Amino acid sequence: MSTERACEVTHLCLLEGDCPWCGAWVVRGRVADDAPGERGERRWDIQAALAALDTPDPAARGVVLSNAEEHGPRIEEALPVFRKALADPDPAGRMVATSALLLRGDKLFADEAEWLEAHLQRCPADLAARGLLLGRYFLRSDDFEADALARQGHALWVIANAPGSELAGDPLCDLRDPRYPEAYARGKEIWQRHVEASPTNTAVLGNAANYFFAPDRALSEGLYRTAQELEPEEPYWCQRLGHLYELEAGARGLSEEAAHELGRRALAEYEQAHARTKKAEVRFGLLVHLAKAAFTAGDRDKARRYAREQLALAALPAFSDTAGLAIFHGNTVLGWLALQDGDVEGAKRHLIEAGKTPGYATLCSFGPGMMLAKELLERGERVAVLEYLRLCSAFWQTDDQRIDLWIYQVEQGEVPDFGTNLAY
Ligand SMILES: [Zn+2]
Repeated sequence: MSTERACEVTHLCLLEGDCPWCGAWVVRGRVADDAPGERGERRWDIQAALAALDTPDPAARGVVLSNAEEHGPRIEEALPVFRKALADPDPAGRMVATSALLLRGDKLFADEAEWLEAHLQRCPADLAARGLLLGRYFLRSDDFEADALARQGHALWVIANAPGSELAGDPLCDLRDPRYPEAYARGKEIWQRHVEASPTNTAVLGNAANYFFAPDRALSEGLYRTAQELEPEEPYWCQRLGHLYELEAGARGLSEEAAHELGRRALAEYEQAHARTKKAEVRFGLLVHLAKAAFTAGDRDKARRYAREQLALAALPAFSDTAGLAIFHGNTVLGWLALQDGDVEGAKRHLIEAGKTPGYATLCSFGPGMMLAKELLERGERVAVLEYLRLCSAFWQTDDQRIDLWIYQVEQGEVPDFGTNLAY
């Protein structure tokens, strides 16, 4: 999305204030010739924002949501925008709206959260308000018991009363927390009742499968399979099954043959998803999984082909938004293949090329995978690994300056503990 297009949408939604995208002073949808010396608080035209959610362009609707999420309308003003976005006829739009609830909810002030709680007393079925509060409690529940309990209450309400909604299938309603096994069990019981009552409702089956995804793998797999049989042309079910097998293949302690078998299953699902998907950008995104799954399956030719294909497409302007992920994973797979061939120089070259990624949301939050780097480090290739780490430090920084510590340790000739970054 260009700044011009974002501005086009945003200016129309501003009563008065500076545009968060271009900084211009806007009064009633128009850029003013003179900005006041003292710039007051930005004021939004919520009716205009609601109307803008009717535009057929999903990117424009995304701008409206992103303004509601991070550029300042008060929560009581933003709420109708989220509510309407959650009812978007396009499921992809509803997913974007659900993610925005987490981001905005996480930024809620205590008085805004109180206002939402009071509002829910009057309007318990307001899913947008529930989602915002779930977003607020999501991260806080690790530290505060009251937030953990509040989160369980809202999640169970959503599971019980809106099992077909995007929110019910979202990680916001995931109750897998070892401290509260009874909350998970309660949710499980409700989901099983829903599945029994609506055995052909794929929205319910899919959400239940998401709930069981990590803790009850077999249950989850069975539900996705049923949904897939009901909607054989829908690529989403193949993607979810592919993801399930991909994660399972990465579990510790698996024999090589078991990992290969799971890799083959993941690959078969991703290939079906790819074949059934029409949107070019979704097909492009699937190549990351196809290359990794092919590598896990031990199908080296396919792994190479899919990795090369994603790197070639990543260079095209049409895919620039998500190219960062493809550049990272495509090169990592090619690096592993080179290493298997005994081509250490090739592996180093691809590792460094992977580090040159412009970054991507998941890479910037979880950080780069360190498996290939560790393998090379153990072969004494410190210089290449240092270059890789320095490149990655441009897009990944944590509060504990983890990557700087790793750089220091490698400089000292040590092999750092890369922790969870070895999981991929
Ligand atoms: Zn602007």
